[in-house]
Amino acid sequence: MAAIADFAAIAVQNARTYQATDQALARRYEELSALNEVSRAVSSSLDLDTVYTVLVEQVNHYWPVELVCLSLVDEQGQKLRKYRQVPKANARGTRPFALNEGIIGYVAQSGDVVMANNPETHEAYNPFVDNVNGQIPASMVSVPLQVQNHVVGVLTLFNKADGPFIEQDVDRLKAFANPVATAVENARLFKESERQRAAIQATAHTLSQPLLIIDEAGDVLVANEAATVLLGAHMAQLFEAISSGIGQTMETKIGEKTYLSTAEHLAEVGTILVMQDITYVKQLEADREDFLHMLSHDLKNPLTAIMGWKSLLERTAELDSRGDRYLKQIGVAVDRMLIMIEQLLYTVTDNSSVSLMKKPFDFNKVVERVQADVAGAALNKAISLTCAITGERYDIEADENRLYHMLLNLVDNALKYSPRETAVSVQVEYATEQLTIQVLDEGAGIPEDDLAFVFEKYFRGDKAKAQPGSGLGLSAVRVIVQAHGGSIGVVNRPEGGAHFTVILPGSLRAVSETADV
Ligand code: ADP
Repeated sequence: MAAIADFAAIAVQNARTYQATDQALARRYEELSALNEVSRAVSSSLDLDTVYTVLVEQVNHYWPVELVCLSLVDEQGQKLRKYRQVPKANARGTRPFALNEGIIGYVAQSGDVVMANNPETHEAYNPFVDNVNGQIPASMVSVPLQVQNHVVGVLTLFNKADGPFIEQDVDRLKAFANPVATAVENARLFKESERQRAAIQATAHTLSQPLLIIDEAGDVLVANEAATVLLGAHMAQLFEAISSGIGQTMETKIGEKTYLSTAEHLAEVGTILVMQDITYVKQLEADREDFLHMLSHDLKNPLTAIMGWKSLLERTAELDSRGDRYLKQIGVAVDRMLIMIEQLLYTVTDNSSVSLMKKPFDFNKVVERVQADVAGAALNKAISLTCAITGERYDIEADENRLYHMLLNLVDNALKYSPRETAVSVQVEYATEQLTIQVLDEGAGIPEDDLAFVFEKYFRGDKAKAQPGSGLGLSAVRVIVQAHGGSIGVVNRPEGGAHFTVILPGSLRAVSETADV
């Protein structure tokens, strides 16, 4: 009997152990499936409400607790706010609290887990934070929600119904915390990106000019009203503008309108196209051009007549030396007037479209002509103007009139920007490989910051504003020099004053001259 009793005792013991193991396994299985359920909710939803609902469902299934509370850290990482709790908190429970307030705040700040079966005695306890609808809790367990080592929130269970919380509860809740933390972060990122997207949409819609964002696949991400109209009417042209203009700003004609469009490619976003309707500006530009062409034509007519009458007088009238001089001055004045008209026209011409009238001539004669034409101005300011010519002279085949304008402009400026009783010198050096023309003065020179801009259209130095001028002279000079294949530069002289250097290529040398050498 004793032996049988022993066997029976062992059998009962085994059965109990088996039952216990079986129960533990079943519990573990249920835990895992709950975890699975939460993970599934996390990966299938970017909405925190959905994740929270599943979480509470699963928690309530495994823990008979009075309250499940999810607290989230705000974007600045400064405060915590109870996102939701089941059952619902009263008004006092929803105010934000600091990261070190209460047990929940402590968990958020330290990243530690707190299990307290008499929370009131815990040193971090705060009745405003750690309460169950205003009541002191009997037990609580609080775990941090961590993403990449930073706390995004805290998950807390209050008042376990069937006894105190134990270590096993902590482990289980920690397992729940992982997918919830991911969900919280995903939901935050999604909300953030949605907010940014909404801000971009709203900004785009306030713009009256077309704005379009296209993703890598060519799908339209953002199109404001103006862009939608264009897309509807001229989609092909619009996409053409995008593909041919990435990384640059260019003029595009779409339908009846002209746009200034800028297309930029942004990695991982797509292509952004911003357009500005410049049809009105283009029309104004065209009107201005027409007007200037008409004006210069009308101005040139009487001047041509004056020149005609002048040469008739020269040929037919018996004039004394004074008469001759006056007539010459009339010629100089008319020439200068013609130059000004040329400049006026130049304001509307495209720099690259300068056409040259080339023929062989003696550049020294141009120097002499300029010298004679500015003699009065030099005398007026008591400036000594000297011209030095070195090297073996040769004729050049170039546009004489334009090179005359070029030199006249440089010398004019030298006189204009120099004080009285100084010296201006023109130096011409003939060499086989190049013809160098230099104009030096003793004025104030050009401020270092301005040096890079003096050849730009309409640029005028601050000091120059006291003098008459249009800021077109030097830009026209550069266009003329470059049209001849030459180059121009300016430096300030160490002793003071500006020093302009024009280099014309030796290839301009007239062919007949080359043959003579
Ligand atoms: P403008 O003389 O009509 O202002 P320019 O195009 O001829 O226009 O010259 C551009 C600017 O360059 C001038 O406004 C002036 O500031 C500067 N500049 C040109 N030549 C000289 C010079 N010889 N000395 C000092 N500054 C000069």
